[in-house]
Amino acid sequence: MKDVPWSFYQPKPDVSWAWKTICKVKDKFSAGFSSTGLWLSRPSGYSVSSGYQWIRPKYPAVTWDKMVWNSWCIAKHSFITWLLAREALQLKDKLLLLGIIPDDRCFLCGIASETHQHLFIQCCYTRKLIALLSQKLHLGLHVANLLVWLQTKPWARIKKMVTLVWIQALYYSIWHQRNKARLEGVVQRPENVVQQVQCLLKCRLLEWHACIKRSSDRAWFKTVIY
Ligand SMILES: [Zn+2]
Repeated sequence: MKDVPWSFYQPKPDVSWAWKTICKVKDKFSAGFSSTGLWLSRPSGYSVSSGYQWIRPKYPAVTWDKMVWNSWCIAKHSFITWLLAREALQLKDKLLLLGIIPDDRCFLCGIASETHQHLFIQCCYTRKLIALLSQKLHLGLHVANLLVWLQTKPWARIKKMVTLVWIQALYYSIWHQRNKARLEGVVQRPENVVQQVQCLLKCRLLEWHACIKRSSDRAWFKTVIY
């Protein structure tokens, strides 16, 4: 690099791949500097954090992050909910496009194409689960997008979070039942699934009982636990 401005430097053909890779990164970053060598995105000079912010891909901010990642929900439920929110689960519609499977019919109902929309909203199995959960929580759960629907509710925080814990558990159960159908060829009855989720969440919910201030919320909470 001697006697050559670093932004113009090009590695010789016989140098190592590691040095060539470093030079490729250098070429990308050279666009962030002015012709006089000033780092354009930070007046006081280059820093690792400003470099990272400059080069990383930018995506629109999502509104559901707190509904997915929080200390109330069970981690494995949050993980599946996160993949669902990003439509990143490897469902049959994607596998069909890649030519990995011959058809994309839903494992749970065997009728429609297995997409995120279908599996977590439209499938008759899912609708039955959501109806049972609505009964259980004494709420008219909106089937289209439960996370967005819940965000709009002017409820006490505890009520929202308890409902969220149930919703995430429901999403996880749908994914679990779908995989059982795929691997074992069996699906549990929706009533049994809701009962299992209730057993799983009971201890966790009991711990929160003392946090509820309003008597109407306490009454609702009791019906959710038992
Ligand atoms: Zn289905």
